[in-house]
Amino acid sequence: MKIGIAGAGLLGRLLALHLVRQGHEVHVFDLASGPLARGAAGWTAAGMLSPTAELESADENIFRQGLRSIELWSQIIPGLNQPVSLTHAGSLLLAHRTDTGAAMRIVGLLEQKAPVDHKPRALSPAELSELEPCIHGPGRAWLLPHEGHLNTVEAMAALQSSAVGTQWHWNTPVVQLESGRLITATGSHSFDHVFDTRGTGMREAGRPFDAHDVNCLNVRGVRGEIFWLHAPGVTLNRPVRLLHPRHRVYVVPRSNNIIVVGASEIESEDRSPASLRTTVELLAAAHSMLPALAEARVVHSETNLRPALADNLPRIEHQAGLTRINGLFRHGWLIAPAVVEEALNTFSGH
Ligand SMILES: Cc1cc2nc3c(=O)[nH]c(=O)nc-3n(C[C@H](O)[C@H](O)[C@H](O)COP(=O)(O)OP(=O)(O)OC[C@H]3O[C@@H](n4cnc5c(N)ncnc54)[C@H](O)[C@@H]3O)c2cc1C
Repeated sequence: MKIGIAGAGLLGRLLALHLVRQGHEVHVFDLASGPLARGAAGWTAAGMLSPTAELESADENIFRQGLRSIELWSQIIPGLNQPVSLTHAGSLLLAHRTDTGAAMRIVGLLEQKAPVDHKPRALSPAELSELEPCIHGPGRAWLLPHEGHLNTVEAMAALQSSAVGTQWHWNTPVVQLESGRLITATGSHSFDHVFDTRGTGMREAGRPFDAHDVNCLNVRGVRGEIFWLHAPGVTLNRPVRLLHPRHRVYVVPRSNNIIVVGASEIESEDRSPASLRTTVELLAAAHSMLPALAEARVVHSETNLRPALADNLPRIEHQAGLTRINGLFRHGWLIAPAVVEEALNTFSGH
């Protein structure tokens, strides 16, 4: 089949990879200037694969899609033509003693919602310092054993370069999609089937967000700010989250001595640079659990928008000749492979 995809973000790249490998003729259109231009939220994400921790605010379906996706990433990544770091060393929840009450409410919720072998396991100070020798300060720690993380910058590049045979149309915003048709500034393009994976770009310009309409086109952006620290000598083996009464902060290790600190979650579509408030809160919280970060250098900060629907859940909408997928919100990397698997199963069943 001849397939058109609008949007070369996380979903668009994964779809292209699967469809071109199945032997379809695949064309992908994006407003970005090239394969490494970093407009998609997929580039900005920290890459935490945290099905259990996300149960704090997400439903059990996200948990199941997360577990399935972790399995699928382990199959997809070794088959890519560039290396992508993917780990399964679990993640940690940490709390300062003064915040134990607030932390216990979250840990209690996860204990209730998670199946038995995914429940948080309390760590003694000795166990914590064996796992993460650079962490000092938080008096309470729990291990979430089956969580992981991947390097999103490596993965975005590798997904695109591995979809060999795909025709990429950069600098080409898609203004409208119809059954088997994709309309750009240069004209109308016909396909057997089109996929709409434009994330926050799916909402018509000027159309106000309707909080009661659960529909892929009625998407909103949720602002997220993130920081990269260069911290040679600071060892961190897995993602850690600080359970703080006011702000959520996580710290994620990357290659080349980079540590990612994130992320704000603000109901705003403002993509301007990080605010002073977010900078102070996130970096102070990160330093309070990893004091060795004091001399780290802030080498990069980035702001992007998470594509979210009215209920903050993902959605696949099929009609003849057109599939829309949206609403991956804060769990895109956690659930994308399972969402794409489901979309392609239904598509091939048509
Ligand atoms: C700060 C931050 C931290 C995050 N951390 C995590 C995390 O740790 N774990 C996790 O699982 N998820 C995380 N996420 C969420 C994840 O990044 C998103 O859920 C995911 O990227 C959504 O994928 P998508 O393909 O729908 O959208 P995107 O990745 O945003 O891709 C959309 C694409 O559509 C293109 N586009 C838009 N309009 C048009 C148009 N008119 N025509 C053509 N192309 C168009 C864009 O250029 C873009 O390339 C985070 C997000 C942010 C912002």
